[in-house]
Amino acid sequence: MPPQVVVLGAGPTGLALALKLLQRRDAPRVALVERASQVGGLAASFTCEGIHLDYGSHRLHEVVRAPILRDLQELLGADLLHRPRRGRILIQGRFIGYPLAPLDLLLNLPPSFFLRLGLDVLASPFRRAALDGDGASYAEVLRARLGPTLCEALYFPFARKLWGLPPEEIAVEQARRRVSADSLSKMIRRVVSALPGIREPGAGHGYYYPRQGFGQISNALAEKVRQLGGEILLNTELREIVLAGEQVATLRLGSSKDRADGPLQDLRPDMILATIPITELVAAIRPGVPQAVQKSAASLRYRAIRFCYLILDTDRVTPYDAHYFPQTDLCFSRVSEAKNYSGAVEPRGLTALCAEIPFWPGEEVGELSAEVLAERVLRDLERAGLHIRVPVRHVLAKRYDYAYPSYDLAFAEHLAVVRDYMATIANLIPLGRQADFAHDNLHHALEVAYAAAECLRPDLSWDKALWARHRLTFAEHVVVD
Ligand SMILES: Cc1cc2nc3c(=O)[nH]c(=O)nc-3n(C[C@H](O)[C@H](O)[C@H](O)COP(=O)(O)OP(=O)(O)OC[C@H]3O[C@@H](n4cnc5c(N)ncnc54)[C@H](O)[C@@H]3O)c2cc1C
Repeated sequence: MPPQVVVLGAGPTGLALALKLLQRRDAPRVALVERASQVGGLAASFTCEGIHLDYGSHRLHEVVRAPILRDLQELLGADLLHRPRRGRILIQGRFIGYPLAPLDLLLNLPPSFFLRLGLDVLASPFRRAALDGDGASYAEVLRARLGPTLCEALYFPFARKLWGLPPEEIAVEQARRRVSADSLSKMIRRVVSALPGIREPGAGHGYYYPRQGFGQISNALAEKVRQLGGEILLNTELREIVLAGEQVATLRLGSSKDRADGPLQDLRPDMILATIPITELVAAIRPGVPQAVQKSAASLRYRAIRFCYLILDTDRVTPYDAHYFPQTDLCFSRVSEAKNYSGAVEPRGLTALCAEIPFWPGEEVGELSAEVLAERVLRDLERAGLHIRVPVRHVLAKRYDYAYPSYDLAFAEHLAVVRDYMATIANLIPLGRQADFAHDNLHHALEVAYAAAECLRPDLSWDKALWARHRLTFAEHVVVD
């Protein structure tokens, strides 16, 4: 029997959405279409020499809503571990505990840094008063909120590296989505609350992590989807969305292995829930979208990322889960040690580091071999003071083209044009990180999926009013790092 609902993309959003639909008493027939050879998208894992490896540092944050956490605990059982956070960040040439810890800060940063921070606190009311309305850019808002010292040491170089733009060219929305501290004094209070004795449970000092890598969450969701009769078409990608008036009449799919010339498979579902990049969605529409929509979609850009993995001949190379590097002269933004996320002891005598290297599609780094990338990573680890003195058994590299949506100063205008057009197609709903062009965490992705499942009526039409209400809450999501 052909599916009544097709979910495009089997990342966490698509999987959780399909599962929620299949768990309904009036469950429709659901198929997921996934380009990759495995489920999980950015939140997938793979195994190399017995080590579970993620696509960069991934953890389930403690702020996950209770009903979602309960569902995940039910799915994963004792495999969903609760772990203490143990990271470091390189600031002013010194490694400091991250999340920031007061004692560590005092012992490692020069007194002049604290003096400048103190002056920033004193000047805070004047900076805020001078801010024009909501501010014009990420740089302006953060400078007003947090002061120049933290911005120059931390937030601005990180922004340049992760999102590939000068902070003056990044939209204010990015500050709202990505920086939870809205004042320097609040940030200082948060750091002080990390002192033993003051620390509260759920204050961000721990996280949840599956024993077999972060991708175990998506794998468990996929297993349940299949058990309930859902179909997951792997290695299959969207080629065309054929419209008849204001409805999708046909979805044209093809194998992602034989790209352009393979046979096509046509589906005619009642509803399509799309979690794939909005730019790909627009490009697939036939007979084509209005020129203004095309132009706006072409202006939306995603930052890509390379993941470079070093497999090392030792049990453990650091006691830390992740190291954060804001410095723009180091090629990576973060380096994580996979075994430290779950506390795995096995495999003995082997560990792995994963370096995250953001880039713009078309830049040279996207095409470098794993070996050349690893040479750069090893060179920069040395320069950063993280010395690797053990043999590198081998290296590998992966690439994800849709890592971060780029919030440049014009993105909101372009996104609105694209969204308004998409809203005219009754049975095609874009949602999730990629289709909604949103910065999010996994717990947000699951929230969106749960909410979307409520909006599909039993007759497979979409409850637009309920969806609009849910979207107001999505707009409040702030990413946890
Ligand atoms: C470096 C990095 C680290 C992160 N760390 C954390 C963390 O610690 N904690 C946390 O909670 N979140 C983290 N996140 C965010 C988390 O990865 C996302 O919230 C989550 O993956 C979003 O799920 P999604 O299903 O919406 O999108 P995705 O995971 O991107 O899934 C989209 C899916 O669509 C598929 N697809 C794309 N195009 C097509 C097509 N044309 N046809 C068919 N299929 C297609 C893709 O292959 C993919 O499987 C991190 C993100 C990044 C970039």
